[in-house]
Amino acid sequence: MSYVSATLRRLVTQRAGEQCEYCRFPQTASLFAFEMEHIIAEKHDGITEAENLALSCPYCNRFKGTDLGSLDPETQQLTPFFNPRLQEWSDHFRLDGGTIIPLTPEGRVTAKILQFNLPERILEREQLITSGEYPPPHPQTTDQ
Ligand SMILES: [Zn+2]
Repeated sequence: MSYVSATLRRLVTQRAGEQCEYCRFPQTASLFAFEMEHIIAEKHDGITEAENLALSCPYCNRFKGTDLGSLDPETQQLTPFFNPRLQEWSDHFRLDGGTIIPLTPEGRVTAKILQFNLPERILEREQLITSGEYPPPHPQTTDQ
């Protein structure tokens, strides 16, 4: 794993609005530090630059690993994951309470492999919905 400078880490964190760019869990509500996730893993020649990094909660980062996509459970087509640098979250997912409902093939493979809807994760989101912390506001989309 390449070194990510403090400056780059700060940029990625602020750009993400301090929320996981996959499941939108707010870092402020997590006991764990969020991670610099390579959208295209270094194994696949992904670079350690802002355009290939996303802020990720430990769950999403762990389940995604070095994968780039999976087979869409509906069509069995090889499908890339949702890319937070190129795509809008709300085009690919919607919330139903604490459950994240995928809307597209990219959404389906992402929700499945990153295991968005494990019971304990839904429960955590439901608790944050109750306290008004989820979903957090969308970050300003001023991507450079
Ligand atoms: Zn996440």
